[in-house]
Amino acid sequence: MEFIDLKAQYRALQPAIDAGVRKVLESTRFIGGPEVKELENRLADFVGRKHCITCANGTEALQLAFMAYGISSGDAVFCPDMTFISSVEPAVMLGATPVFCDIDPETYNLDPISLLRQVQRVEQEGKWRPRFVVAVDFLGNPADFEAISRICKEHNLILIEDAAQATGASYQGKRCGSFGDIATTSFFPSKPLGCYGDGGAVFTDDDEIAGLLNSFKVHGKGPKGKYDNVRIGLNSRLDTLQAAVLLAKLDVLEEEIEARQRVAARYNDAFRGKVQIPAVSKGNISAYAQYCVLAENSELRQQVLDTMKEAEVPSLIYYPNVLHELDAFAPYEGDRQLMAAKKYAECNFGLPFSPYLTEEDQQKVIEVVLSAL
Ligand SMILES: *Cc1c(COP(=O)(O)O)cnc(C)c1O
Repeated sequence: MEFIDLKAQYRALQPAIDAGVRKVLESTRFIGGPEVKELENRLADFVGRKHCITCANGTEALQLAFMAYGISSGDAVFCPDMTFISSVEPAVMLGATPVFCDIDPETYNLDPISLLRQVQRVEQEGKWRPRFVVAVDFLGNPADFEAISRICKEHNLILIEDAAQATGASYQGKRCGSFGDIATTSFFPSKPLGCYGDGGAVFTDDDEIAGLLNSFKVHGKGPKGKYDNVRIGLNSRLDTLQAAVLLAKLDVLEEEIEARQRVAARYNDAFRGKVQIPAVSKGNISAYAQYCVLAENSELRQQVLDTMKEAEVPSLIYYPNVLHELDAFAPYEGDRQLMAAKKYAECNFGLPFSPYLTEEDQQKVIEVVLSAL
């Protein structure tokens, strides 16, 4: 059994993927081929945003977003304490200060109350300028955009939606990637929409920001082309082969999201009351990039993981650390009482999950996990 079954997905989509890849190989337009623009147009439509600008990976998508809004040292960037390091790493690399906030204990997403408390603390201290909030759709579950957007408006903060785990998810009928001033995603192979290498994208409705992103991602190119460099930028393009793979996968993304709901419902029914199951707020659809549950405590989690290992059922702790305890962030002070994030790190474990997970395998996972409890 695979933790995320990319082989089964390839078998299902092989004719379309192979044809798309072969077309690129024959055209030899490996950089900037027509598939890239086609993908950007289709993704912008899919998500419901004016512009989609593809780039080299989800981390650089965030970096480009921070650069387009002119991040600088002295800026404070608020983000959940439980996410992948990329949510805030590029901001810190560009000189800003990370401020970690707690998560909601049920949805595992940025807790608006903790966010507000941290924003007010930074405002009062006056050391850093509160500037950005990164709201992550953690595990594919949409963040609480209504409450978070309100805080951002009241405190004049730029909201970035990190939808790396949430392509295909939706919040109150609107697709993830359409929230905040700007949104980013990743096409890392294991994400809900993944390519066969690295890839990412930025979404915006703002023409001026879109222009800056298109410039920054190609060495700060100017209106006269790529040797007319008007600012310092990056080399951050999505290559044509990856775009071809993504076009084939985008055709089935909606069906896959539906299949993910069926697997999640089956797991939910089996595990309700035994472990803490993921909570998706009413009106929202999670992409279930991962299906993670919480054991009552870390000893019980270890017991389950040992049993799974013995039965050769793969598992993954996703993630084992809160960000503020990572050595990389040791120089940054702040509130260290982020209890829900800490509890999540200590008790979570992810189960094998994909739209292609057979009912037989689902049943095996359920039986093995329940036997350990
Ligand atoms: C994967 C991920 C990223 C970074 O994407 P890469 O393509 O791996 O650079 C950023 N944020 C979150 C929440 C992610 O899960």
